[in-house]
Amino acid sequence: MSELLSQAGFSLAEDPSSADVLIVNTCGFLEAASRESLEATLELAQGKGEKTLIMTGCVPSRYKGDLVSELPEVDAFVEALDEESIVEVVGAALKSKEIHTLAPSPEGETFPNKGWEYVKISDGCNRFCSFCTIPFIRGRYASRPSKEIYTEIEGLLEKGLKEIVLVGQDTGVYGSDFAEKPDELQSLADLVRYLAPLFNKFGAKFRILYIQPDGITDDLLGAFAEVDELVNYFDIPIQHTSSRLLKAMRRKGSAEEFRDLFSHIKKKIPGAILRTTAMVGFPGETEKEFEKLLDFIDEIGFDYVSSFAYSREEPGRAAYLEDQIPEDIKQERLQLLMDRATLVGERKMAAHVGETEEVLITGKEDGLSIGRTWFQAPDSDGLVSFEEELEAGKVFSAKLVEANGFDFVGALEGGV
Ligand code: SF4
Repeated sequence: MSELLSQAGFSLAEDPSSADVLIVNTCGFLEAASRESLEATLELAQGKGEKTLIMTGCVPSRYKGDLVSELPEVDAFVEALDEESIVEVVGAALKSKEIHTLAPSPEGETFPNKGWEYVKISDGCNRFCSFCTIPFIRGRYASRPSKEIYTEIEGLLEKGLKEIVLVGQDTGVYGSDFAEKPDELQSLADLVRYLAPLFNKFGAKFRILYIQPDGITDDLLGAFAEVDELVNYFDIPIQHTSSRLLKAMRRKGSAEEFRDLFSHIKKKIPGAILRTTAMVGFPGETEKEFEKLLDFIDEIGFDYVSSFAYSREEPGRAAYLEDQIPEDIKQERLQLLMDRATLVGERKMAAHVGETEEVLITGKEDGLSIGRTWFQAPDSDGLVSFEEELEAGKVFSAKLVEANGFDFVGALEGGV
């Protein structure tokens, strides 16, 4: 949406008070996330005055028409699957209010350069895990045509971006819905190989997030090994190691299968970074099952773990299971899981101290320039900070001189 707005000549205001349009892009995956989204919207609504307030994303998709009467402060809603209409909606909302302070910029490039961007390769999900509302919100799985992905990425790289992050709810099955289209790519491995020359031409990198365990095929690992521009970062949500619970989650796998999968990755791609997502407090989770999950985090040595406590969300089937875990136990297990994951992850990070890495500068924080190495994904992992004033969007070679938890202090190699 920011790309579309930028192309249409809109620019990003310094802060909400100086904006004409306020857009809250929401997450509605959990009730807690929906609540946070509503709070953010209401907070902005308080001082909005004549400004136009638009809510986009998964909350409008999940709650639909109910929101119109409940949030009269909001001028327009854009559901997740309609995000391409954002320019039209903003234009219409502004017209009805007769605010015309926005002049298109001559270059059509008015959002700050942070050097990287997410690109969606698919939307929706067919898995219907019993705890998840996403298939109900985002719909059935649909891969984006490969040419469309290529063109979007080409446009971003032409502007000088140095990293593209490929996302989707279930990236590993990219192309599986194109079986009837012989002219389309049929797998994620095909997509990686198709995009590789483009990244090579522009000297840029890409990473892929959210590959479900069964999406890791030998063909895909082959593509990871062949394509230097694809960083060896594996984001593979397992959710749990108990095959009993995984079955109740309507997911596949077991501790043995996941153990084999991760050792296979480590063997084929030495030095691979491993991220996973794990959930605690799913209905019926026993103390013993939880402890085995903790041990598994240690055993595999995950670099990063996103952890969640199960949240009872209708219409996911797990909401109707009887043996729900009390909230205090869920929170206690979540804390223990986060502590264990932090311990393991920080140990892994400390091993990078002394390495020289390319760091993409993404902006500023607390007066320091900040950036990311290939083994740090945006919005979830750590950062590298520098005392020097460095231009966002540029890549510098730097030595990681000190680790603070998941973050690093960088020292430029060879000056600016
Ligand atoms: S794979 Fe499962 S958890 Fe992930 S989006 Fe699909 S249904 Fe939800």
